[in-house]
Amino acid sequence: MNDVVVVGAGIAGITAALDIANHGIFVHLIEREPSIGGHMAMLDKTFPTNDCSMCILSPKMVDVSRHERITVYTTTEVTSITGSAGNFTVIAQRHPRYIDMERCTGCGDCIDVCPVEVYNMFDAGLGVRKAIYKPHKQVVPDCVVRDIKHCIDCGLCYDICGTGAVLHDDEDQVEILEIPATAVVITTGYDLYDAGEKKRYGYLRIPDVITSIEFERMINASGPTGGELRRLSDGNIPESIVFIQCVGSRDMTESGNAYCSCVCCMYAIKNAILIKEKYPDTEVIILYMDIRAYGKGYEEYYQRAVTIGIRFIRALAGDLYEVDHSICIRIEDTETGDMEILKPQLVILSVAIQPTSDAGEIAKRFGIASDDYGFFLSLHEKTGIVQTSVPGIFIAGTCRAPKDIPDTVAEGGAAAMQAVIETLQAGH
Ligand SMILES: Cc1cc2nc3c(=O)[nH]c(=O)nc-3n(C[C@H](O)[C@H](O)[C@H](O)COP(=O)(O)OP(=O)(O)OC[C@H]3O[C@@H](n4cnc5c(N)ncnc54)[C@H](O)[C@@H]3O)c2cc1C
Repeated sequence: MNDVVVVGAGIAGITAALDIANHGIFVHLIEREPSIGGHMAMLDKTFPTNDCSMCILSPKMVDVSRHERITVYTTTEVTSITGSAGNFTVIAQRHPRYIDMERCTGCGDCIDVCPVEVYNMFDAGLGVRKAIYKPHKQVVPDCVVRDIKHCIDCGLCYDICGTGAVLHDDEDQVEILEIPATAVVITTGYDLYDAGEKKRYGYLRIPDVITSIEFERMINASGPTGGELRRLSDGNIPESIVFIQCVGSRDMTESGNAYCSCVCCMYAIKNAILIKEKYPDTEVIILYMDIRAYGKGYEEYYQRAVTIGIRFIRALAGDLYEVDHSICIRIEDTETGDMEILKPQLVILSVAIQPTSDAGEIAKRFGIASDDYGFFLSLHEKTGIVQTSVPGIFIAGTCRAPKDIPDTVAEGGAAAMQAVIETLQAGH
């Protein structure tokens, strides 16, 4: 068989799948969520051009779903792999969606009648969704999913569905897939550092302390506030905002993560610029350790932020506390030695990229090595970054190390090329 398996359908996996398929090789793209797209689908704009994230990603998601040589499996996870390069067998488990995907037209009538509301994790928990739902409007495949953990079985969705697509609990079962593959590309991405672990920043204790991903959803026109920036405590638009950098990165004391998370300086600058564009009178301060603007056009983007009045203070924040419903942050400017107490109306924590919670388990299943933090280890950090210790198994994107979208896409393409070479060498 002339097939490659790609595990994880964020921008790395989507890029790899398209590149491999466009070389005439059949791809099985395996994604555990109900929709493909990964974290990029959650972002509002992208640095340093401020292009709309979904405007770049969405056409690629559609290309993948319509490609004659790509099969997309959602709500699916790999459970084991046997064989060797050129001749693997990948075993995957498709979890029930309780929807007949052939029949579902994605019309959303069932969503409208569903009486149950639960937090929508696609909106980083800020918005709600129904028990039968699409995580967001541009899902691929365009099909609902029934969350039976929260479904009260009221029957309204079965009644309204004109095509009979909604399945009862016993009508959809776990399906075991056995896929032969010449090569495997792992692109399982990242999780975000749990800001609650940094007790001194008051996340979940002080309502107006939010994380960067929550901000991304809030400022997004299709997000839970329709793109309006709001304080969670009173719904008002904040007039002063502080970003705190390196939350869960470059920090051996609490998180144990010595590494730089690579994207947080740039995404904080991006979000600060977006705030200034939308609410020009807002005071915006970024508390940083060092500004790492290393990519093409990134230094200029940083300088633009300085020019439009965003204040950068080289300082670590002390404990956050509330006095009369305002947040207080004591800081020491490490360049001047000056002490200051800031009283912002909103604080945004720039949380680090870290390995997914099951990265260790995935490494074990595929027999590949991980580094000290749990990111997958390359065969060689300079000349073999997408290769692993197992011939025929390749890695790309943030499952290997924190990185931005351009570098993720470059690695997706590099891993695709290696998978193509492996397939050609296997003589299929
Ligand atoms: C707040 C924030 C803002 C950012 N802004 C920017 C920006 O403006 N510009 C920029 O260049 N970068 C930005 N980034 C970085 C960007 O998000 C990443 O570079 C990019 O999304 C990485 O893509 P990926 O495919 O490696 O991982 P992901 O997007 O995490 O995709 C991984 C996919 O694999 C799936 N998966 C995971 N485990 C499994 C499994 N076991 N089986 C099957 N599927 C699995 C996941 O569900 C997911 O769909 C930002 C990051 C953050 C946190």
